[in-house]
Amino acid sequence: MDILYNSTRTKGNQVKASEAILKGLSEDGGLFVPERIPALDKSFRELSEMTYGQTAYEVMKLYLTDFTKDELLDCIAKAYDEKFDTDEIAPLVEADGAHYLELFHGATIAFKDMALSILPHLLTVSAKKNHVKNEIVILTATSGDTGKAALAGFANVEGTRIIVFYPKNGVSPIQEKQMVTQKGKNTYVVGIHGNFDDAQNGVKNIFGDKELAAYMDEKGFQFSSANSINIGRLVPQIVYYVYAYTKLLKKGRIRDGEKINVVVPTGNFGNILAAFYAKQMGLPIDKLVCASNENKVLYDFFRTGTYNRNREFVLTSSPSMDILISSNLERLIYHITGNDPEKNKELMEKLKEGGSYTITEEMRSKLCGFYGNYASEEETAERIHGLYQDTGYVIDTHTAVASCVFGKYKKDTGDGKVTVIASTASPYKFTRSVMEAIDSKYAKMGDFELADALSEISGVRIPKAIEEIRTAPVLHDHICEKTEMKKMITDFLGI
Ligand SMILES: *Cc1c(COP(=O)(O)O)cnc(C)c1O
Repeated sequence: MDILYNSTRTKGNQVKASEAILKGLSEDGGLFVPERIPALDKSFRELSEMTYGQTAYEVMKLYLTDFTKDELLDCIAKAYDEKFDTDEIAPLVEADGAHYLELFHGATIAFKDMALSILPHLLTVSAKKNHVKNEIVILTATSGDTGKAALAGFANVEGTRIIVFYPKNGVSPIQEKQMVTQKGKNTYVVGIHGNFDDAQNGVKNIFGDKELAAYMDEKGFQFSSANSINIGRLVPQIVYYVYAYTKLLKKGRIRDGEKINVVVPTGNFGNILAAFYAKQMGLPIDKLVCASNENKVLYDFFRTGTYNRNREFVLTSSPSMDILISSNLERLIYHITGNDPEKNKELMEKLKEGGSYTITEEMRSKLCGFYGNYASEEETAERIHGLYQDTGYVIDTHTAVASCVFGKYKKDTGDGKVTVIASTASPYKFTRSVMEAIDSKYAKMGDFELADALSEISGVRIPKAIEEIRTAPVLHDHICEKTEMKKMITDFLGI
C-alpha cells in the first residue's frame, strides 16, 4: 500500500515520498511525516539472516513506496559499499553490559554518513521521477560535521553539485582540513568571515531568494537541502535499529520478541526519532533513552512537559549535540497530539515567538516510552576514562554522554533489559577530548600524534578518513565576506 506524506502544520496537500525528499521542508514550514507508520512485513528471524543492504531494502520499501524495487536496490548498493570500512556497515560491540552500535564506519567517521551516503541517490531518483530537468544544487551551512558528510555523500554524484559554507575561524582544524581537501568535480567549499549563524542566515536568505531561484531555473539549476529534517535522512536511520535487534537475535543475545532498550545521544532529535519509528513498526523496543549534554533542553522537556529554549548555550566537548532547538522533535509533538496539525502549529508558533511551549497532560502520557537524562562535561570525561580502564574500549564524547546516561537510567530504575547504545562518532573524530579524558599527559601532543597514541592504546587502526587528511592537498581555498555568498555561488556555477 502506498504511503503519502503530510505536513506537521497543515491538513491536506499530501505528497509522495519522492516529492517530500525533493522539497525537504513543507512550504508551510512544517516537516513531512508518513500518514501512518508501516509495520515490518518480515519476521525477525528472516531479517536476522540479512546483510545490512538487504535489511535496508526491507525497511525503506515500506516508506518510499513510489520507488521501484530496482531503484531502491540501486540506491542502497551505491550507498553502503566500500566507503564503509566493514561489511557489517554498523557493527555491534559489547562492553561493560551494553551493546554499542557503531554508526561511524563510513567516509567521515560519524553517524551522519549512515543517511548522507544514500540521500544523494534518493534525491537524484526523486528528481527523475518528478521530471526535474535541472541540476540539483545542494546548499549547506555547517558548523563542522554535516558539511563534510554531505560533501562526501554528494561528491561526483551525477546531476548534483554541492556548495558548503563554513565559518572560517569557527570549526576545528581537523574539521576544516577534512572539508578543504574534499575531492569531486561537483564540490565547492567556502570559508566565510563570520560565525556559524552568519553562514546559516546567508544560506536561508539564498533559499528564500525568488529572483535568484528564477535565474537559476533559467540556467538549468535548482537548490535543494541535505538538512536532517529531510525524510530522505530519517528513513535510512530506521534501518540500523532493525539491523541491531535482529543481529542480537542471531547472536543469541536475546530471544525472538524480547524487548530491548535503546540509548541515543541526542541533538536535533533525528536519530532517536528513527528509533521511535522503528518501535512503532513493531520492533520490540521498551524504553527510548534520550541522552543530552549540558544543553539539556530535552531532559527538562521530558521531566516537566515544558520545552524552553530560553537559556544559555553551552559549548561542550560533544559539539554535535550543542543544540537548543531540536527540529525533529516537531514530528514527535505532532504524533502525540494525535496527528493534529493545528495543535502542533500552535505550539511551534509559541516556540518561535516566546522560545517555549508546554504540552498537555494527555500528550505527556504518550511520552511514557521515553526517558531523558543528561551528562555533565565532567561525567562525560569520567565515563570515557572509566570504560577504557575497565574494558580497553575507547568511545567518543557523544557516545560517552549516552553511556553515562545509560548508567543513570539503570540506577534510577533497576531495569536490566538488554541495551543498545547508539555510538555516533569514532573516537578519532574527537581525539583531543577523548585522549585528555583518558590521561592528562596527552594534553601537550599535536593532533596527529594524538591519533597515533589512540591507535596504540585502543588497538584500533587509524581510519582512512584521518590518514587521508594528513597528506591530502588543499583543494578549496575560497574565502568570502558574509555579504558575498550569492556571488560565490553564481561564480561556481558559471552563470
Ligand atoms: C549529529 C550528531 C548527533 C545528534 O544526532 P541528532 O540526530 O541530531 O539527534 C550525535 N552525535 C554525533 C557525533 C552527531 O554527529
